[in-house]
Amino acid sequence: MTTTAPLTLVNVTLEYPDGGGTTTALDRVSLTAEAGQLVALVGPSGSGKSSLLAAAATLVRPTSGQVIIDGTDTMGLGDKELTALRRGKVGIIFQQPNLLPSLTAVEQLVISDHLRGKSAKAATARAAELLDVVGLSASAGKLPHQLSGGQRQRVNIARALMGSPRVLLVDEPTAALDHERSASIIALLRQVTNEFSVATVMVTHDTEFVPLTDVVATMRDGKLTTPVLAGA
Ligand code: ADP
Ligand code: MG
Repeated sequence: MTTTAPLTLVNVTLEYPDGGGTTTALDRVSLTAEAGQLVALVGPSGSGKSSLLAAAATLVRPTSGQVIIDGTDTMGLGDKELTALRRGKVGIIFQQPNLLPSLTAVEQLVISDHLRGKSAKAATARAAELLDVVGLSASAGKLPHQLSGGQRQRVNIARALMGSPRVLLVDEPTAALDHERSASIIALLRQVTNEFSVATVMVTHDTEFVPLTDVVATMRDGKLTTPVLAGA
């Protein structure tokens, strides 16, 4: 039997043009995230954490190396195929929930599925299910400004799950939240990683939450040190 990890990076190097030269944001980074695994990505500012997520999300093309999503080597794909793969397999959660101000919580989710060509009826049922998972059933009809910061981040998480992704990429999800809300958001990410068997890579500053993760990967100057088991 062969199993395919949802996300594998092999020797990924990413260089950005910088004046006359280049900045190496990622230097031969290799990482595997398994289904149901929550990987914490830590390291100082500027070490390449967001660049790693952008490469894994196929939002930037590495200079060299391979980004393999659910068994597909994305390096050989054209832009259209890449967009389709991303919509079908990857959920992205950034620091600031980028919600549309005039849409209710349930509408934020339904509209995201529109791009995937699903029927409105199926999307609405799925949206209701996911709002329940993130604890927001009672707030389905609320607009973003009627929600707290933590609730908005929960909508963001539910929205990222709408396409039933295999991979969840999360960049500092609690940076705008107080301690208590941060803890509950990390607990929710732990829960959905298990419940939906996604491979989650989460950038976090807060080492306090490391015990809730499975693996800790540390970035330094674009290099990834060998990932270790959380708590080890
Ligand atoms: P982190 O998320 O760990 O703070 P980043 O991935 O944002 O680190 O940045 C890694 C390096 O790449 C830094 O030196 C940063 O200045 C550079 N960098 C990031 N994004 C860009 C970009 N779009 N253009 C040029 N340089 C960039
Ligand atoms: Mg960053």
